[in-house]
Amino acid sequence: MRILLVEDDPMIGEAVRKGLRAEGLALDWVRTVGDARLALVGAAYDLVLLDLGLPGGDGLQLLRAMRAQGNSGPVLIMTARDSIADRVAGLDAGADDYLVKPFALDELSARVRALARRSAGRADPVLRLGAIAVDPARHQVSVDGKAVKLSAREFSVLLSLIERPDTVLSRTQLEERVYGWGEEVGSNAIEVHVHALRRKLGADVIQTIRGVGYTMSDKESAR
Ligand code: CA
Repeated sequence: MRILLVEDDPMIGEAVRKGLRAEGLALDWVRTVGDARLALVGAAYDLVLLDLGLPGGDGLQLLRAMRAQGNSGPVLIMTARDSIADRVAGLDAGADDYLVKPFALDELSARVRALARRSAGRADPVLRLGAIAVDPARHQVSVDGKAVKLSAREFSVLLSLIERPDTVLSRTQLEERVYGWGEEVGSNAIEVHVHALRRKLGADVIQTIRGVGYTMSDKESAR
């Protein structure tokens, strides 16, 4: 899952970046409305975390512009503006959720997971495919009910694939979902993670579509 964080406060930005990256989420951080516009043109984001008081403009203007341009991705406003009128204005401008600062990182993470579920059309917080179950909130993975330990990156690759069964993701698409800007990506990093996942979860869990990428399919992984 790739997230765009639009936040000019260095302490809040750093805390959110560290916290969400530790959960295996790829996060790009911009500090102005102008940089946010450029980032939104350059990449597809699964979620935007949007501060309102920003250098170069107001987050609400950016949000209205996004919606007017047909960008329907989830947006969570995080701001110190806590009046009811502000919340109503934020939601009515097209936000999906509204979190008032100061907030606990745990609550932000839970809201991020809820928005990811909703945008994928799911209600069950646990993702299941064949014998595999993935619980993003607890960072737990099991095969046939037996817990399996994964690294943060392996977890992120697995989550990206299992969220979209029968969809083929290229190596580049997986890199975009697993690594944020400025994070070192080895040339065969995704292959290494897929190899580890097959070793831990079963050889036939992830299928390679030669020359295209990787997929997880309900039919193949059912045993
Ligand atoms: Ca601000």
